[in-house]
Amino acid sequence: MKFDVLTLFPEMFEPLKTSIIGRAVQKKLIELNLINIRDFSKDKHKKVDDTPYGGGAGMVMMPEVVYDAYNSIQNKENAKVIYLTPQGKTLNQEKVIELSKEEHIILLCGHYEGIDQRVLDEIVDEEISIGDYVLTGGELPAMILIDSISRYIKGVLKEESTNEESFSKNLLEYPQYTKPEVFKRKKGAGSVTISDTMKI
Ligand code: SAM
Repeated sequence: MKFDVLTLFPEMFEPLKTSIIGRAVQKKLIELNLINIRDFSKDKHKKVDDTPYGGGAGMVMMPEVVYDAYNSIQNKENAKVIYLTPQGKTLNQEKVIELSKEEHIILLCGHYEGIDQRVLDEIVDEEISIGDYVLTGGELPAMILIDSISRYIKGVLKEESTNEESFSKNLLEYPQYTKPEVFKRKKGAGSVTISDTMKI
């Protein structure tokens, strides 16, 4: 699976270098490219946003710079372009599994008040929200998408791990226990409280 991420803040993706996703990138099970939209600004101050037509608070990311950043991605004929936005369809496990079957996903992260609609109409295939609340940017939602999709890429996890977990059969997973067998007078398997008479 190849992910290309269009963002104004590539440094926000540092956490993906750690743990399971970090190892998957190192093993080349997934490819992760971060494209800094600001690099494509033709403005001498590297400006990427402007005030919205019609007034209102905040700034809107300009269409050309987003379009040029998108166009810098090679071999994108079969890529699915996803814009992270509160107006998108809310992400769930079914969608994650569906997206894990793609070969190439381009994630577009907005910031400030969002992105000029004209470039969205031009390049975006699908809009996804990670929930009914507003974040400052699409970077955290993009990371959530990369993390949740990558778990379904062959070799990233042991196959059993995704077979029997929450949402896999329309159920939530059972409670998990490990060693020690007794913690705070509770037994691990089955969470049985040990009576005082059993106290050592
Ligand atoms: N003006 C927009 C609105 O009212 O819907 C909010 C823009 S938000 C401050 C800036 C960017 O954060 C958005 O363009 C989007 O990329 C991202 N974003 C914020 N909340 C999100 C969510 N719940 N799901 C996905 N992306 C989100």
